[in-house]
Amino acid sequence: MSDTPDILESVINLCKRRGFIFPSADIYGGFRSTYDYGPLGVLMLRNVKNSWWRSMVQMRDDIVGLDAAILGPPAVWAASGHLATFTDPLVDCLKCKERWREDKIDGVCPKCGNTTFTESRAFNLMFKTQAGPIEGEGATAYLRPETAQGIFTNFANVLTTMRRKPPFGIAQIGKSFRNEITPQNFVFRTREFEQMEMEYFVPPAEADEWYRYWIDARYNWYLDLGIPADRLRLFEHPQHDLSHYSRGTTDVEFAYPWGWDELEGIANRGDYDLTQHSNASGQKLEFYDQAANERYTPYVIEPAAGATRAMMAFLLSAYEEEVVDGETRSVLRLDPRLAPYQVAVLPLSKKPELEATSREVLGLLRPYFMCDYDVTQSIGKRYRRQDEVGTPLCITVDFDSLDDRAVTVRDRDTMAQERIAISDLASYVIGRLAR
Ligand code: ATP
Repeated sequence: MSDTPDILESVINLCKRRGFIFPSADIYGGFRSTYDYGPLGVLMLRNVKNSWWRSMVQMRDDIVGLDAAILGPPAVWAASGHLATFTDPLVDCLKCKERWREDKIDGVCPKCGNTTFTESRAFNLMFKTQAGPIEGEGATAYLRPETAQGIFTNFANVLTTMRRKPPFGIAQIGKSFRNEITPQNFVFRTREFEQMEMEYFVPPAEADEWYRYWIDARYNWYLDLGIPADRLRLFEHPQHDLSHYSRGTTDVEFAYPWGWDELEGIANRGDYDLTQHSNASGQKLEFYDQAANERYTPYVIEPAAGATRAMMAFLLSAYEEEVVDGETRSVLRLDPRLAPYQVAVLPLSKKPELEATSREVLGLLRPYFMCDYDVTQSIGKRYRRQDEVGTPLCITVDFDSLDDRAVTVRDRDTMAQERIAISDLASYVIGRLAR
């Protein structure tokens, strides 16, 4: 179940120490709750996003991709409802003056324990900026607080260019920005983050069925990528708590070190978004069903996930410390599809004789897998280093390799070693890692 808070500290430390996630603007003392993804973090985050894209777009014939602009005009956000209602209730503690989201603190200041606050004010979470050199209302722009609206505004473009008919979906991965009142818990809640959202357009009569389908599909995606079932659960929002646009919302929740919290939300948004944009823009955002000779506004089922939040959940559930031969090893038991490196090639020593064969092995595997090549320090230390960053397979080239043209393959999880002929290596590793 959920870990102790120490695990969070251990994972944050590991992320910084091993180049996954650095505090942003570190040399200037950092910029609160903003993070940079380092050499290993960028590999893993890409793998998270690629796994999502693969399951949403590559492996299906009913979903296409999109990459819409981050900057948008006020008209989009007026129509979507974000200008009026994308707010959090903000209160200030009357004693220590700290600012909080009222709905997250149960009437008690988490900093000083005081229970008196200012009146709550609605605080809009969108980042507002100016586009171009013109002052005034016409040049106001917003950084998108979700990727979804770019999908709705392109609904007609995609429908006509791709000759789609419901049910079909549009998937998008990209940055979103929210001026969160209390960003917290490492990359769980940040002001700049990455989302993976898909809007699935369906005939209204099929909406409920597809809503259930996507809840199931999304839950299973996390399970398939290695989050244990006892750390995942579904939480269906009660009707009276639903957002104004929602006809049903279910969250996939993860057992974080601080308790159950959201990983992803799946909502049945009805025809709210297309109707709003249609009314505001004057453009028809409908589907004409030729067979039935009728026009209708499709309903939308939206699975909305966070790429950065998902990466954190994968890290937390993969992290383990265990004692091996009297020594503690930390290991990230990441699914090979998510690990920054799938393979590490480790020449037993720095002796030049081993270099050519090691480089040959690297050259065989590199086209298929992200590989690390490490010659420094003892082989034991190098195995530990790879365990700690989740590399599923280490391949050691030793002096025997020069004669028998074989290498040792070591498994991260079992630490078992196997001798494999170099001529069979690529297909062996593909067999072990590819899914
Ligand atoms: P919360 O209630 O936690 O503020 P939300 O319900 O507003 O989140 P959605 O608008 O449904 O979140 O966003 C979809 C997904 O985007 C979330 O499930 C989460 O994974 C991710 N996400 C949202 N806000 C943030 C954030 N500030 N930092 C990181 N990820 C986020």
